[in-house]
Amino acid sequence: MSADRATALRGLPSVDQLLRRLAERPELSAVPRARLTALVRQLLDAERKRVLDGRGAPADPDTLAARVVERARRAGVFSLRPVINATGVVLHTNLGRALVSSLALERLAAVGAAYSNLELDLATKERGSRYSHVEGLLTRLTGAEDALVVNNNAAAVLLALETLAHGREVVVSRGELIEIGGEFRIPDIMRRSGAVLREVGTTNRTHLQDYAEAIGPNTALLLKVHTSNYRVVGFTADVSSRELVELGRARGIPVMEDLGSGSLVDLRAHAFPYEPTVPETVAAGVDLVSFSGDKLLGGPQAGIVVGKQAIVARLKKNPWNRALRIDKFTIAALEATLYAYEAGTALETIPTLRLLTEPLTRVRSRARTLLRRLAPATRARLKARVVDDRAQVGGGALPTVELPTAAVALGDGAAEAMRLDERLRAGDPPVVGRVVDDRLLLDCRTVLSHQVATLARALSAAAEP
Ligand SMILES: *Cc1c(COP(=O)(O)O)cnc(C)c1O
Repeated sequence: MSADRATALRGLPSVDQLLRRLAERPELSAVPRARLTALVRQLLDAERKRVLDGRGAPADPDTLAARVVERARRAGVFSLRPVINATGVVLHTNLGRALVSSLALERLAAVGAAYSNLELDLATKERGSRYSHVEGLLTRLTGAEDALVVNNNAAAVLLALETLAHGREVVVSRGELIEIGGEFRIPDIMRRSGAVLREVGTTNRTHLQDYAEAIGPNTALLLKVHTSNYRVVGFTADVSSRELVELGRARGIPVMEDLGSGSLVDLRAHAFPYEPTVPETVAAGVDLVSFSGDKLLGGPQAGIVVGKQAIVARLKKNPWNRALRIDKFTIAALEATLYAYEAGTALETIPTLRLLTEPLTRVRSRARTLLRRLAPATRARLKARVVDDRAQVGGGALPTVELPTAAVALGDGAAEAMRLDERLRAGDPPVVGRVVDDRLLLDCRTVLSHQVATLARALSAAAEP
């Protein structure tokens, strides 16, 4: 180390000195001591390294203190926090997928703050089943004989395959061997469950005959997987649930369908393309149907399995079921979500359905309100304006659907759009938009009405030169 660099290092405050300087800062009152110490240590280490590398003299203590305050502000007290979703993707996996309804939140608070009858039959004082709170709702809403809920749909598929096909063959169409985000690949899940994959057909065409020819003495299950996140278009053929059920019945082999999103309502009335609903799939005679709780259903993360009583009973008895079980919060939120479907209020009260079906005029008026709330000078400098665009459903649901939407477009060039985007993400609350063609788009389909004022403030702050 050269002598002058060593001398320069002496200008750096110690950890304790910097902490003492920060002691009275009101912005740091909620930051625990250990966390602040770690932050200070990190900053001083980096500064020391910078000086030793000959990249200049150390910053003065006031500047260092200001940096700590800024870093603490950015990190926030809590790591997991609300974000304004201005991407337009309604079921955004990275942003937490489905929002739960107010009723679900109420039930979460009620059940979380008090003891509950989670596993107590209040009539008999005997031990009850946690699933009893949602089984009735699920069977009435889907028409199935019985129901089971596990941690997520990936777990539901794993549990079903492990129970029904461990060491035996499962017949699946090649066109349905999907991978969805987050490391879920049907072939991998199948291997882990101990089932042997028997692929039939080709990527674009599979016929009933292909399934029939693949059935042998070791066949345990015919599996149909909804190709949630992509579509093969053009010269295609697949086998309907009903046809597969007929084949399964004739050969004495159960049929399972992984519906992925699994909607309880037909969204065609709202200009969405046809997607098989859970009740339709059950009515087709499929023995076991699985779907997610937090995709189109609009509830908490969960994997829901409905189907024939004798088969669901086997899943319930599998020890894996205990390992994949849901907690009381999931049950509380799921019960409230399903209640809305039964009460006929789902479209108005479940945020996912509301966001998906909101008319463009209302989305556009939200975008206009956002624009109006910006100072005229900011608006002019950022060339802010409302543009029509296309949003996505997300969550691997309805991949070909482009939702009409309206966004506020901002920025004059790629550099500025990216700088704005970065500043908005660093803000409080963070705002996530999308940069397209040198502009930042803040898509208002996924911005909730009560967030518009906050978003306008965040945007004004981020737009400061
Ligand atoms: C989303 C999806 C899954 C996984 O569901 P998670 O609830 O995310 O575990 C499985 N299969 C299909 C077809 C899906 O679309």
